[in-house]
Amino acid sequence: MAFPQSSRWFQEAQRVIPGGVNSPVRALKAVAAEPVFMARGDGPYLWDEDGNRYIDYVMSWGALILGHRAPAVMAALTETLADGTGFGTATRWEVELAQLVVEALPAVEQVRLVSSGTEATMSVLRLARAHTGRDGIVKFAGCYHGHADSLLAAAGSGVLTHGIPGTPGVPAAAARDTYVLPYNDLDAVEQLFRERGDSLAAVIVEPVAGNMGLVPPKPGFLAGLRDITRRHGALLIFDEVITGFRVGWSGAQGLYGIRPDLTCLGKVLGGGLPVGAYGGPAEIMGKIAPAGPVYQAGTLAGNPLAVRAGLAALNQLRAPGFYDNLAGAAARLAEGLRSALADAGVPHHVQQMGSMLTVFFTQEPVGNLADAQKADTEAYGVFFRAMLARGVYLPPSQFEAMFVSAAHDEAAIQATIAAAAQAAGDLRRWGENRG
Ligand code: PLP
Repeated sequence: MAFPQSSRWFQEAQRVIPGGVNSPVRALKAVAAEPVFMARGDGPYLWDEDGNRYIDYVMSWGALILGHRAPAVMAALTETLADGTGFGTATRWEVELAQLVVEALPAVEQVRLVSSGTEATMSVLRLARAHTGRDGIVKFAGCYHGHADSLLAAAGSGVLTHGIPGTPGVPAAAARDTYVLPYNDLDAVEQLFRERGDSLAAVIVEPVAGNMGLVPPKPGFLAGLRDITRRHGALLIFDEVITGFRVGWSGAQGLYGIRPDLTCLGKVLGGGLPVGAYGGPAEIMGKIAPAGPVYQAGTLAGNPLAVRAGLAALNQLRAPGFYDNLAGAAARLAEGLRSALADAGVPHHVQQMGSMLTVFFTQEPVGNLADAQKADTEAYGVFFRAMLARGVYLPPSQFEAMFVSAAHDEAAIQATIAAAAQAAGDLRRWGENRG
């Protein structure tokens, strides 16, 4: 497979766009490759500027649960275009989407629409701080909640130290109120709350982590967070930007039977267009302007194209058996990948939950960021490039999850497994040469 057009566009891109991309992971640096410039998508497939076809497991970072160009979404967009692209006013479509979210998530009585997951998490922290009158935020290492300052904190030197800025440009003060603990470690949470519970506004968590590769919560972890936060008068925030409408109609909160105080949504909610949201009980959400004093706004929030695409997509997810079918396809894929790698003698551990999965190049189960970081990221890069050469577009980092969509039919799954068997051979030879 050759990529002359991608190479040409990457040269041009680097002149006018920092690093040539509009979001860092798209640069493919983590897999020692160059960005592939995609031109179109359909069903489970992407085509690049050179006309190469790929089976896509990035799926717009999880947004495209129905695959590319899902007919229901295309029809809604076409219909919307005839009416105009946006008015900056209230529309009935926003109400319908909000009603649908409230119906799906029992913990949500009111919801505010925004344009990205980052806006949702950033705004939800402001609300949590306003509601509790406290500043401290607890997050978990390896969970990503968008790029707001206080959420880009890195763990300090000890479990109970304050966060330190995770990137230049984040003021120390913004990170100081953020505490970063290991995922799946309730003892650490318990200890932190014992020491300074009365200064902590909220715990924010990906209820199923998708940003250190796929890492499900250990039994009791989410229930423990619910219990600890309640005892200390802090809010529990589920960041369901990935898991909302992805792991089930009622998200991870439905799957695990936990009622968070506040919920963030994004990705699937917009049917592939830019939509985020945050919601919770009317008592808390009523503090958002103009109902209350906590300011938050957006020029394009509730944009009709995005909202109607989201509505059309979500309505498809109600089909009986939708989530079981999706999980079944992902389970068959996970099993096929395990066999391919095992046959080649390549150390691996494939984690799968619902339609999300990650091939970790480590033999141990991965329960937190420290475990994930034991994975051989160079091996992942070899695997990524070997799959790319065979027409499979995997997440370009060991620490991103693969997403299976409803458009991934058996032919696509079996073709992926066949490509993986060959790629596993490449990996074995690479391992032998490495010594
Ligand atoms: N929260 C989670 C769990 C995410 O995975 C992401 C993005 O990947 C975000 C928040 C931020 O969303 P966005 O990229 O739409 O700003």
